Amino acid sequence: MRLTLVPLLFFCSICFAQNNYPQDYFSNPLEIPLILAGNFAELRSNHFHSGLDIKTQQREGLKVLAAADGFISRIKISHFGYGKALYITHPNGYTTVYGHLQHFNPEIEAYVKKQQYEKESYEIELFPKAGELQFSKEDVVAYSGNTGGSGGPHLHFEIRDKEEHALNPLLFGIDIADSVKPIVSNLYTYAIGDSSYVNNSNAKQKLRLIPLQNGDYMAENIEAFGEIGFAIGTTDRQNLAANNNGVYNVQTFFNGNKNFEMNFKEFSFDESKHINRLIDYEIFKTKKQRVQKLFNDNNPLSLFESVLNDGYIKIEDSTNSVYKIRITDYKNNDTWVTVNITGKKSDAFQKIQPETSPYYIYANQTTNLKEGNVSVDIYPNTFYEDLYVNFQVKNDTLILNKDIIPLQKSITISFDVSKYSDEDKNKLYIAELLGYKKYPSYSSTKRNGNTLSTFTKTLGTYALTTDNNKPTITPINFQNGQWLSNFRYLKIKIDDDLSGISNYRATVNGKWILMEYEYKTKTLTYDFNDGAVTDTKNNLKVIVTDNVGNSSTFESMFYRK
Ligand SMILES: [Zn+2]
Repeated sequence: MRLTLVPLLFFCSICFAQNNYPQDYFSNPLEIPLILAGNFAELRSNHFHSGLDIKTQQREGLKVLAAADGFISRIKISHFGYGKALYITHPNGYTTVYGHLQHFNPEIEAYVKKQQYEKESYEIELFPKAGELQFSKEDVVAYSGNTGGSGGPHLHFEIRDKEEHALNPLLFGIDIADSVKPIVSNLYTYAIGDSSYVNNSNAKQKLRLIPLQNGDYMAENIEAFGEIGFAIGTTDRQNLAANNNGVYNVQTFFNGNKNFEMNFKEFSFDESKHINRLIDYEIFKTKKQRVQKLFNDNNPLSLFESVLNDGYIKIEDSTNSVYKIRITDYKNNDTWVTVNITGKKSDAFQKIQPETSPYYIYANQTTNLKEGNVSVDIYPNTFYEDLYVNFQVKNDTLILNKDIIPLQKSITISFDVSKYSDEDKNKLYIAELLGYKKYPSYSSTKRNGNTLSTFTKTLGTYALTTDNNKPTITPINFQNGQWLSNFRYLKIKIDDDLSGISNYRATVNGKWILMEYEYKTKTLTYDFNDGAVTDTKNNLKVIVTDNVGNSSTFESMFYRK
């Protein structure tokens, strides 16, 4: 008994010391068991996931409950992002966030619709004051949905502190069964500087992983000399779902001494973009694998706990070393990866030189690249390091490197369009050309006289593109002249090739009506329960405009009593 008590006490003193978050203050925001489709800080496109994605049994319309007493401090409805989202601020200073909602409870719904009709906009952001929309713990505040940038019905749930930092909700005692060890899918090694090498080469190398019976891994043995680092592809899953989610903690040890640790507990939204520096962005872009570096190469992220020599290790000649990686999930299931390293100095190693170009960027300076009718403005600290970029301009097309280098900031790309006729000019936009087929994807384009410019955080190929096509507008559930007395909804499909939809406006008998836009299904929906349609004979008019200003008008008549 005494033998087991001592380590237990020791362990708990650590966990209490680390956790100052109120326990059991927040309750489950759904009435069903918590099963996660996504967890905190898992690696997503251009960001760390800021909360939990809770599965809703492939359904929408489940009751969403206030996780604690509080008032609605923010309501945001956007076509993308969190779709319909609620923010509840609690007396202890924390805020909980509920995203991708289908609709709100009747009180909030009425509050929001009043504002939407006043502002004549579906997209809206409101900041109600304390006392306006006050709720108790477990009150129904909304119904779960799939609105905004959501790939299937689920509830996005977040806990933020007073500084608007996203916190790992599991720190608050929210319990998710997890007895499954993290898995490791990839391991890479890097030779740092001019005189280091692994297996006689300074190139980035993928190492073979040998899975062991107990869930740990042995990497293939390597020979190395000088300073080297590693990167790992790892995920974790919880007991009740097959989803590959993020891990909680990663540590490395060199000959028994810890030399790197990162912890997924908390981050600010400002720093989330540095995920593209944490992962090997080139591997992500070329192989679709997310491998995270086990070293800090000039990354401002706050997630690094303790780092010795930036996480790199130094291998001397004629030595035998052991490098170990420990990956832990929130429930302390851990997986170890062992790499045996033989130090071996070589007279000649394969030295791959980085690609050069006439365009060398000093990361801390402003750079302007100009050729023909194209100009690129790069601001200080856009790149994480000094480097060469590929820059070419040909026939209204700009090649600005491949999208394999992450940027911390946006750059400005400008095209001079004075050679075009006024008529043609108005149909031009800047597109990023994506994939092998060079599909033109609209890049938010500003017009200023003869200059079109876009502000982007992605390197790649950009081209002036013409959009002469008007949007299409097609009724889904009604025909011209129809009686719609028993209809709850009016549904219309809107679509646009090339530049995409910029805005839409729907009126009945000249009065604005709220049509909710769902980009995933390209559908506009009006709810007759809004009460905005009161006449028997109704003229519906819908105007849709694309991003270069091509506009279509749809008119139809319907009856209702
Ligand atoms: Zn989410």
